[in-house]
Amino acid sequence: MTGSPQHVPVLMYHSVSSEATDAFREFVVPPRLFAEHLAALHSLGYSTTTITALAQMRAQGTPLPERLVAITVDDAFADFADAALPALASHGMVATLYVPTGYVGGRSAWLADEAEDHRSLLSWSQLREISGHGVECGAHSHSHPQMDLLDRRAMTREIGLSKALLEDHLGRAVTSFAYPFGYANATVRRLVEQLGFSNACAVRDLVSTPADDAYAIPRLTVTQDVMAADLASMLQSARTARQELTSSARAVASRGLRRAGLKKRGTHPSRHDWWAPTSA
Ligand SMILES: [Zn+2]
Repeated sequence: MTGSPQHVPVLMYHSVSSEATDAFREFVVPPRLFAEHLAALHSLGYSTTTITALAQMRAQGTPLPERLVAITVDDAFADFADAALPALASHGMVATLYVPTGYVGGRSAWLADEAEDHRSLLSWSQLREISGHGVECGAHSHSHPQMDLLDRRAMTREIGLSKALLEDHLGRAVTSFAYPFGYANATVRRLVEQLGFSNACAVRDLVSTPADDAYAIPRLTVTQDVMAADLASMLQSARTARQELTSSARAVASRGLRRAGLKKRGTHPSRHDWWAPTSA
């Protein structure tokens, strides 16, 4: 089986750091492991793309490179500048960073339940510099709420304000959105489109294909339990069949969740795995 270059894995990271509470462990990858992941991708011959570039290639029917992967990083933690960006740059790789604009230059107040509200976020000047290095900066709402619990007016503000602030500060169009906690409902999805985004990322343990809704691009959660060799086998499975990657990725993810004590759905961080299928 040769697989299809149209099947593009979209990887999701959060913090690249050595420190995390048990509750947040799933969302932290140590810098050394992150570098090993990138080295594995490099040695397998993968090239990287931003999410908007991927969405544009798909919309225009541009043939994709043989081995393509998209790296996304949510929440704009300050460790992106210290740990992730140098590792990406050393391989000439690009990524997409999703920014909750209400916390730029501050701390991760939305993570109080996980006792992770002390994490520093990048400043606007750092984001400007980062966006000049081939990193796409997308919106991740303003205050990182559970969007489906808001009324329409508040949804509109969260989506529109995050776009406007990023565009003002970065001086470029912001066209990609990532749903906080990885999921959305139909109203949120429609508003993201109506407010001028061309694509949006969700979280599902699936490789992305051209058949996907551009406003529900599935992403694979990469935890610190995914060793570089695991990542390589996940991506090689992606080249053969979407179903195979699904089971492979789920096995890796559930191993990680078991180790982190988060196996039961309904605990706060595992909401990242949810996607409301009726909303597509
Ligand atoms: Zn987030």
